[in-house]
Parts: sequence; structure tokens; C-alpha cells
Amino acid sequence: MNPFQYSKAKTAEAAISGYMQNENSAYLAGGTNLIDRIRRDVTHPDYLIDVSELPFSKIEKIDGGLRLGAMASNSDTADNENVKNDYPIVSQAILLGATDQLRNKATNGGNLMQRTRCSYYMSPHFACNKREPGSGCDAIDGHNRILSVLGTSEKCIASYPSDMCTALAALDAVVQIQTPNGGTRSLPLVDFRRLPGDSPEIDTNLKEGELITSIDLPEASKAFAKASHYLKVRDRHSYAFALVSVAAALVMENGMIKDARMALGSVAAKPWRDKEAEAMFIGKKPSRALFEQIAEKTMEGAKGYGENDYKIKLGKRTIVKAFMEVSGLG
Ligand code: SF4
Repeated sequence: MNPFQYSKAKTAEAAISGYMQNENSAYLAGGTNLIDRIRRDVTHPDYLIDVSELPFSKIEKIDGGLRLGAMASNSDTADNENVKNDYPIVSQAILLGATDQLRNKATNGGNLMQRTRCSYYMSPHFACNKREPGSGCDAIDGHNRILSVLGTSEKCIASYPSDMCTALAALDAVVQIQTPNGGTRSLPLVDFRRLPGDSPEIDTNLKEGELITSIDLPEASKAFAKASHYLKVRDRHSYAFALVSVAAALVMENGMIKDARMALGSVAAKPWRDKEAEAMFIGKKPSRALFEQIAEKTMEGAKGYGENDYKIKLGKRTIVKAFMEVSGLG
């Protein structure tokens, strides 16, 4: 583990200023992923800026929806009455991830920033383009059982394991960001993470020094509260990352599907949404045949790399099962 400097910021401006004035800085919130990586010699920040006490820990109603503070804990978010009542798949997804202890410590902003659990990335002894650009990717021909089948590149097939973000992506959440020039900007959560392409070392579309302040859930997505389900398939019942997960949500009217949202987790480097597949739900009567057709469409570009080939069939089956449940047919 490399030595590093540490400071605790009292304001967002001080945090950003500290980040910009120091080489190789990193923001530290709950630390449930970053500290692991530092201890394993995978990440080597020279300057850690603790942002855990910044005033972004509220979960509050705002004009147009619900604001989840970036520093609110995952536990507080899952337990919040407005989240449970109006956006229940967010609560379900959080409670299916990690453990009580980790959820108490992990923050919403940190959850967005967590990195892949690819075992080659997490060990400095292997070639990994994400950890060391240009070094290669030992996972492509190696043990890739938990890795991606959608949106991969020849440089990297890492998967993104966040359950919370898969649910948030399905509900059109928007990330609010404070920028180093004193301004703010918004980024749809589904565009927050990047696919690997030629630069797998870059996980997100955040720019240098930018700080997440909240994640906003739109009022319109409350329409999905009555018919939504987060289905997580994993090796054991607790404390395991998803092999495949599906956030499924419908709006029904007179027995027909009026609107639909679907996001897949752990099959790509970002929560995976397919707008064309979602459009196939609209105006149709729910049925297994319809969901099977949509599952085929969603996974049609999927590519397996050996150990993870099973994810293509599992992805289809998980989509069908999730929507059978949501529509009351399962
Ligand atoms: Fe690294 Fe990505 Fe290859 Fe894993 S899949 S070893 S994270 S480059």
C-alpha cells in the first residue's frame, strides 16, 4: 500500500479545490470499495479527500421528484418511506446487495463510483487494461464467469455489479454534479457509466474533479410503483454479486401495457437498457410469448467468452421471469 495524504472537506467547494490542486487525488466517501482497492495495491491515490461529511445526506422531495443525497447511506435510502412507496425497486435492489454493515457505510454517490470486481483487475499480478492501460486483458481467455456479454470490447469485458444503479437506470434517474468552475450539470444515470471501448481505464463520464451531489428520481417514474420487480440471480442467497439482474417495471391500463422500463445488471460495464426492446412492450397484452420475444431482442448482440457463455441464456430467462412476476402471470 502506498502512503497518501488525507484531508476532510467541510464544503463541496473545498473538496473540489483540494482535488484540483493536488496530483492523483481521489474522493473518499464510505470507502467500502476504494479502501479495499488501496489495500490490495490496485489503486494508488496520493491525496484522499474525505467527502463523507458534506451536506448531501438528505433524501427529500423536490419539484419533479425525489432527491437522493450523494452522501446518504444505502441503508437510509432503502429504508426511506418515499423510496419504498414510490420507487420500490430501488429499495428492493439495495437490500439485495452487500450486507447490513456495508449498506450502513456505503453512500449513494460511492455506489455509482464502485469499480468492477473482475478478479484480474483486483490483483496487481495479472494483465488488466483497466488497472494498467496497454497491459492486456487476462480475463478474455481466462476465468470470466462473472464478466460481461453485452457492450464488451477486445480491450475489456468487465461487468458493473451495482444493484442500486440498475434499478435507478430503469427509472430514468438523473445524476447531479458540481463542477470545478463553480457550476452544476446533470447526467442521466444510464449515461453515467461508460462501455470499455478503447479506454477501459475510464469508468464514468465524470470529468476531472467533478463531484456527485445527488441522484434525482423523476416524478413520472412513480407510475411504475404498482408493477415493478428487481430480480437478482446469484450463486448464493446473500452477500453475493448478481450474475444477472433485471429491474422490470410496467404501467398497465385495461389489461394492456401502457409503458415499460427494463434495465439489466452485471451483463455489461453499465446498467443495460435497450430502448427498442422496451418499445416492444407498448400496447401489448402481457404474455410469456411476448416476454420471450423481447428477451431475444435484448440479448441478440450478446457475446460470450467461454466461462460466461451461460449469461446469454440466463439473461433471457431472467427477463422473462421478472416480467412474468410483474404482470402477475408468474
Ligand atoms: Fe481488466 Fe477489464 Fe480485462 Fe478484467 S476484463 S482483466 S477489468 S481489462
